Amino acid sequence: MSDFIERHDQSVYETETPVLYSVADGIATVRMNRSEFNNAQNSQMTYALDEAFKRAISDDAVKVIVLRGEGKHFSAGHDIGTPGRDINKEFERAQLLWDHSNKPGGEFLYVREQEVYLGMCRRWREMPKPVIAMVQGACIAGGLMLAWVCDLIVASDDAFFQDPVVRMGIPGVEYFAHPYEMSPRIAKEFLMCGERMPASRAYEVGMVNKVVSRAELEQATYTLAARIAQQPRMGLALTKQAINHVEDLAGKRTAMDAVFAWHHFAHVHNELLSGDKLGGYDAKAMALANKRAAGEA
Ligand code: ZN
Repeated sequence: MSDFIERHDQSVYETETPVLYSVADGIATVRMNRSEFNNAQNSQMTYALDEAFKRAISDDAVKVIVLRGEGKHFSAGHDIGTPGRDINKEFERAQLLWDHSNKPGGEFLYVREQEVYLGMCRRWREMPKPVIAMVQGACIAGGLMLAWVCDLIVASDDAFFQDPVVRMGIPGVEYFAHPYEMSPRIAKEFLMCGERMPASRAYEVGMVNKVVSRAELEQATYTLAARIAQQPRMGLALTKQAINHVEDLAGKRTAMDAVFAWHHFAHVHNELLSGDKLGGYDAKAMALANKRAAGEA
């Protein structure tokens, strides 16, 4: 088994610290640290995020968590093309699942995405402390999942949100919160067109709490965090649970289960037709197709 993994995993990490962690004044800051790759999320980062969140939850001095990304962009999404892309690597799992990396056919991604995408996102959404996403620049596909599991989102006016994966023949990213983050009709437009939704519109549709200039983004985020940090721990935890529960009563959790299955039908369908689970699109091909669609190339 180890031979199989060594042959397939060719990831080379550019950093040992894809996530930075710090605490000040009751606020933990979890900072994605792959700015060279616009904070593309590989498994190394996923597990580092999980570790950082665990730390913040375990520390009684922490009342509120801020999730942010280093550099120009919040997140370019899942890593589909950097040297640190590590989808063939085995990690110690957070859920009771077996290793995906030596499995054939649809099992490979089905198991992997249950663990690192749907499973992790649900786990993070259910953290008992409030989390605020601080979003600048791009928040694309897998990046949406990170912002959407947070309780509040503060965005700079240059931020934009986009899920372009319908181009791959896939009905949106693995954590299918789209029709809960915006109305179903706008969610259809968002997915079917795959275009960038500017922060101003994300505010109008109720996806983000606040839009400020880039220069004010940090202060606005931490001012909000400090305000919430004055509330009692249990009051915050129960409020979060209550609202998440109401969302689940509105079908969020069961909807995601069904869409996750369709998502994986699409991965397997792609592989049957083209030999590639992503329909032949890597990061470069997606960027080029995005530019073409926008009439820029
Ligand atoms: Zn997928």
